[in-house]
Amino acid sequence: DPIVAFRSVSKTYAKELGTQALAALAEVSFSMQAGETLGMIGANGAGKSTAIKLIMDFIRPDAGAITILGKNPTHRPVRTRIGYLPETANFPANLTVLDMLRFTGSSCNMAQQEVRTSSEKWLRRLGLWEARNRPLRNYSKGMQQRANFAIALLNDPELLILDEPMSGLDPIGRADILALITDLKGQGKSILFCSHILEDVDRLVDRVLVLHKGRKLFEGQPHALAEQQ
Ligand code: ADP
Ligand code: ADP
Repeated sequence: DPIVAFRSVSKTYAKELGTQALAALAEVSFSMQAGETLGMIGANGAGKSTAIKLIMDFIRPDAGAITILGKNPTHRPVRTRIGYLPETANFPANLTVLDMLRFTGSSCNMAQQEVRTSSEKWLRRLGLWEARNRPLRNYSKGMQQRANFAIALLNDPELLILDEPMSGLDPIGRADILALITDLKGQGKSILFCSHILEDVDRLVDRVLVLHKGRKLFEGQPHALAEQQ
């Protein structure tokens, strides 16, 4: 069974005064299999964030059906099986990565010992162990993004959603994240990798989904997309 399935999903946000309400997603269908890395590509406004918000049940579709890990996204326990890396994380002042990990662990009902063990594992692996008691606000961009990964991976999620994981990073930071994603992919994690830059994803993903103005333009293997262009 697919780990993520959208069947003819539509979503239009409430119209603002003096503007035309356009569908953020219009009858979009796609699926993602367990163990797959799927790239979701599209320019700003394509509908990527809307698709993520629907998966996370931050918003609900107007029409169509969504299945995540075999369940409706409204099913509460589903959320705790998803690791989500937001595009921009505004860390509260003075909090450390350990504070954020503790908070994340309690919000997904992990035992304290499990939170400690998993936090140490990820912080060491991501090169943040020495910096664990420093405020996140003082981290470099690359360190902040690695901290976001530690938070997203804490609960060993079955589905990992990455929203523009390379944005704002310098070449070294990008290389770090690329290596990490390659590693996670090698371990068989199911990864939804969203980006407005095809080159960021095409060497890494098994398949790509291209969105444009809320519609699906392409779903298939990256080489087939390259041949189409
Ligand atoms: P992407 O993540 O690919 O940039 P989005 O899903 O954010 O695309 O946006 C798709 C469309 O929906 C855009 O036209 C955007 O302006 C609109 N949109 C997104 N969020 C809202 C919102 N909260 N209210 C109104 N329109 C929105
Ligand atoms: P992204 O590229 O991830 O869509 P944006 O900077 O476009 O991010 O949007 C930031 C936030 O504003 C998102 O939560 C998005 O849903 C919301 N948003 C985008 N377009 C609109 C809009 N036209 N009206 C209201 N909110 C919007």
